[in-house]
Amino acid sequence: MKVKACRECRTITTKPVCPKCKAALSDDFSGLAIVMDAEGSEIAKVMKITEKGRYALRVR
Ligand SMILES: [Zn+2]
Repeated sequence: MKVKACRECRTITTKPVCPKCKAALSDDFSGLAIVMDAEGSEIAKVMKITEKGRYALRVR
């Protein structure tokens, strides 16, 4: 099971395309942010994340 990150919204997924924005994925990413509460999370604000989920900090 290969984990990849979306180049657009940085969602981490095991699916062939991003489940949120259908953009291309990259397997070259680093860091992991788990957002439980997008509205109350400072990380989510900085990363402009509006939904809970798992996100890569950097995608190349
Ligand atoms: Zn995406």
